[in-house]
Amino acid sequence: MDQKVFFIKTFGCQMNERDSEIMAQSLSNHGYVEGMDINGADLIILNTCSIRAKAEQKVMSMLGYLRKTKIKKPDLKICVAGCVAQQEGKKIISKMTHVDLIVGTQNIYNIGELLNNVSINGPQVITHLEDKYDIPNLIPDLSPATVPFRKFVTIMQGCNNYCTYCVVPHTRGREVSRKVNDIIDEVAILVKAGVKEITLLGQNVNSYGKTNSVSDFSGAYSFSDLLRDVSKIEGLKRLRFTTSNPKDLTDELMRCFEDIDNLCHQFHLPVQAGSDSVLKKMNRKYTVDQYLTQVDKLRQYCPEIALTTDVIVGFPGESAQDFEGTMNLLEKVQFHGSFSFKYSDRPGTRAIVFEDKIEESVKSERLARFQARQGEISLNRNREYVGKTKTVMVEECSEEGVKSRTETNHIVHCAKTTELKPGDCVDVTITHAGRHSLKGQLKPLR
Ligand code: SF4
Repeated sequence: MDQKVFFIKTFGCQMNERDSEIMAQSLSNHGYVEGMDINGADLIILNTCSIRAKAEQKVMSMLGYLRKTKIKKPDLKICVAGCVAQQEGKKIISKMTHVDLIVGTQNIYNIGELLNNVSINGPQVITHLEDKYDIPNLIPDLSPATVPFRKFVTIMQGCNNYCTYCVVPHTRGREVSRKVNDIIDEVAILVKAGVKEITLLGQNVNSYGKTNSVSDFSGAYSFSDLLRDVSKIEGLKRLRFTTSNPKDLTDELMRCFEDIDNLCHQFHLPVQAGSDSVLKKMNRKYTVDQYLTQVDKLRQYCPEIALTTDVIVGFPGESAQDFEGTMNLLEKVQFHGSFSFKYSDRPGTRAIVFEDKIEESVKSERLARFQARQGEISLNRNREYVGKTKTVMVEECSEEGVKSRTETNHIVHCAKTTELKPGDCVDVTITHAGRHSLKGQLKPLR
């Protein structure tokens, strides 16, 4: 029997990238092989994100296009997964009758079985969200030829913070932390197979182990404990994590940057806004001063840490003065980089009913101003590395040259060489700084 080919289109965040890998592994356990060409696929999966309105529109227009494809190829199976599936599943399947399976964020591990069901019972919507939920332990299945130099490892799902603009608690459920041993085993298998860099993933990793017991022994086990245990795995060159909520940032976690050699000196700490009244309406549970105090402390533990953040402009009720607060915060912290967006209403969130929505033109103006200033600051920050020698991890080697990354998460481009491969760590002298990347000269290999 011909092997069936699947194609996954992933939208949005790193959590979705990891979820697509999990679905790919479940499907390969059911005899499917992954294809890189959507036109050659027997099964197409859209792994969706609904963090912003634009994301959802993209999914709907892609499903519209696939309706025509399915007319030409009636046996084609179409599946929608991820946060839009979780939120709009029933609506999608009633409107888009060419869709065969809607699979929610907690149901991705058994997508193989669910597809078998579809071929027997017709189109399915599987989107139940359990509060008490054990994240299945999927043992990585890496063939030696395809071992990547870096991998994401999910440590928890969901979020209990209910920021008023955010869909995550509604689409990924309440916080659930994976068992410590499952995480340690997975990282050990990956590193033994040749993976050099691990990124621990969660919506709010700082609260790992807080909501359910993650270990067989009694007593608290925190995210810092997990970082220390994972970092001890022999052969692990670099350890990263994302994402953190400042309200759960502890000294214990900040001290990890001082103590753990292979923990990379970069930290993504979303602030979202620079005004206490906006932070309150966002339900972020910290003030601007508290955030600034955390940043100062972090820089005492790790002076060279590269700090990045997320910012939303144009939140309902954001006055010109509130926005100046965000610009002032940017000046004070001098972030190495940031992801900034215009506020958009999201279904199921509290902010959707807030009054004083900001006009689109004002939002665009504020976003442009914020991004322009951030761009200048990033360039200045990057210039601080010129003349310095940094250890980089190689990511790509091509005719154009070598693309690599510092442990502070800066991309460094160097001249072409045939002596390197992804995952190699080499020293580079930084020769030039741009807004988004650096250029460097490879030091002679040891
Ligand atoms: S902490 Fe992050 S994921 Fe959780 S609700 Fe807030 S913005 Fe969403």
